[in-house]
Amino acid sequence: MSAPRIEIDLRKIEHNATRLVDMLARKGIGVTGVTKATLGSPRIAATMLRAGVTAIGESRIENVESMRSAGLSTPMRLIRSPALSVVDRAVGSSDLSFVTEIDVIRALSSAAESLGVVHGIVRMVELGDLREGIMPEDVDQVIEDVLRLPNLSVQGIGTNLACRSGVAPDTSNMTALSVLASSIETDFGIPLPIVSGGNSANLNWCQSEASPGRINDLRLGESILLGCEPLHRTPINGLHTDAITFVAEVIESKPKPSTPWGDLAETAFGPGCERPGHGTTFQTILAAGHQDTDPAGLRPLSGIKILGASSDHLVVDSGQRIPIGSEMRFLCNYSALLRSMTSPFVVKVLTSQSTPVVGDHRRDLPQVWSFGGPVS
Ligand SMILES: *Cc1c(COP(=O)(O)O)cnc(C)c1O
Repeated sequence: MSAPRIEIDLRKIEHNATRLVDMLARKGIGVTGVTKATLGSPRIAATMLRAGVTAIGESRIENVESMRSAGLSTPMRLIRSPALSVVDRAVGSSDLSFVTEIDVIRALSSAAESLGVVHGIVRMVELGDLREGIMPEDVDQVIEDVLRLPNLSVQGIGTNLACRSGVAPDTSNMTALSVLASSIETDFGIPLPIVSGGNSANLNWCQSEASPGRINDLRLGESILLGCEPLHRTPINGLHTDAITFVAEVIESKPKPSTPWGDLAETAFGPGCERPGHGTTFQTILAAGHQDTDPAGLRPLSGIKILGASSDHLVVDSGQRIPIGSEMRFLCNYSALLRSMTSPFVVKVLTSQSTPVVGDHRRDLPQVWSFGGPVS
């Protein structure tokens, strides 16, 4: 099998999604499964739906469209405000959009009118993380404006935390959202079916004793795919953290001095390395780099240490000579996953077997050099 590649075990993803759906259902919260880190993979979306998510959330219109062309007819939510230039495509492919600007809302209204459909609107509210959203004090005015526009239906409000500034979801900001939802319903006499409290970073708050209040939806990507929560990147009990792994192939393996020689200046990617230890390292190079993944976001499964990377070389301390042509497997963080899925150089292998079968065309070499035995 060619490398570099990203291997995605759909059974583990389904397990993770099912556990999260069940856990949140006990709190009266539904899950929107977010597919953007997978480049909108229709098979991953279908896996999340099998696990019981209520809708698919995507931030990119291209991904929504490719999932639609693959035959997915499920509710699709555009969780990043559509740009003015794509409102027609947003209305044509998704059921509702998360929005913040009245200009976009007006454009969605006319696009929906000309297509003869009703488009759902979820207003994003700023609650401190300083990414998208209207300030809470402006929400009333904006709802009033939206209610006057044809072919729109106000479906709810939402917020997003822990993405730009790392503000953690807590009782205080979640209560603020709940209070806002109830006051909109009272002031305008409309129901708000969706109160979307945030992303995977909300799971700690959810697991606390705090009452969910009016929050009835979370948009989950990272926790389903990588099995961890993003605030402290701790694994979530009972979830797989190795559903997605990155595999690269060895192209050089030699004992080398562990200290570079010559004048040290910047590398291709900024500051050079500090002069490390002494003696000799068994240095192994893999055919992968910044153009395939985020090297800083890879975690070797065992025994080796990543020393550095450039566009297309990943250098590791392997402690021993590794046969050329063998493969090494790494766990991915969110950044490594996102970049690997987006790189045209990385083969995507989706499997529904719990032990992926790889490298069977090279029987003379270890299938996957994992140091700690086969990957479970
Ligand atoms: C990416 C994104 C999510 C999903 O976040 P995870 O941390 O991957 O769960 C949710 N909501 C919005 C608005 C997003 O952009």
